Amino acid sequence: MNEVRKRALVTGGSGGIGAAICKQLGSAGHFVYVHANRGRGAADAVVSDIIAAGGEAQAVGFDVTDETATRAAIEELLEKAPVQILVNNAGIHDDAAFPGMSSQQWHSVIDVAIDGFYNVTQPLMLPMIRTRWGRIITISSLTALSGNRGQVNYAAAKGALNAATKALSLEVASRGITVNAVAPGIIATSMSRPTFDAAVIAELVPMKRAGSPAEVASLVGFLASKEAGYITGQVISINGGMM
Ligand code: NDP
Repeated sequence: MNEVRKRALVTGGSGGIGAAICKQLGSAGHFVYVHANRGRGAADAVVSDIIAAGGEAQAVGFDVTDETATRAAIEELLEKAPVQILVNNAGIHDDAAFPGMSSQQWHSVIDVAIDGFYNVTQPLMLPMIRTRWGRIITISSLTALSGNRGQVNYAAAKGALNAATKALSLEVASRGITVNAVAPGIIATSMSRPTFDAAVIAELVPMKRAGSPAEVASLVGFLASKEAGYITGQVISINGGMM
């Protein structure tokens, strides 16, 4: 493996932000594992786009909350080579005012975020550490920094990811591995569209528009690069001035 080209895994590569991150990393010359859970067709389309643009990619599928299935899938990837760029992007939200929030709403959002972080990241660590180079980037949310009504579960989940990012960054800093979180505000994807119409966005966002998945992907691409090697343990928000 040459110095610049790495193997990258992007969870939720079938979704809006994840697809943009996969394409960004593909265009930077990395081999990209485009992960999906239910949206395998969408992941295949992202793989085709990367290959059409001259890059290399492969689709992988598993539910990040299923520890056994996730470990098996990751072990299969590791048989080929270590994964040196990991983007923990898979996530869901299931909003409700807290007094009316069901146990299922609480656990499902937390399980995808926190169990997903453990199930995917932990098995990749030792092989990554042995290479003495790595980038772990987790997609958090502005909600974890500012709070948001109706999103106590989501804020708790993303806040835990920010804390895990800080702690893990300390463990691996001396091994050439950086660990950071990116906390987007309102980004135009199928996740945000039902909640934020143009009028709400104009009211909430100083820049009067939603961010694009490509703008988030540019930031992730930089954090994944060699040039970002001295940035670690940070939660970097991209939010059009919301905070
Ligand atoms: P999408 O709904 O478009 O994508 C979500 C992705 O997560 C999908 O690829 C989905 O896979 C995957 N996913 C969900 N549950 C699981 C699971 N159990 N196992 C594996 N994969 C799963 O959302 P976005 O692209 O908007 O969001 C991407 C990330 O960005 C999320 O973590 C989200 O919280 C965060 N974010 C988004 C913001 C926004 O405004 N859009 C703002 C702040 C943060 P599949 O469809 O294949 O099942």
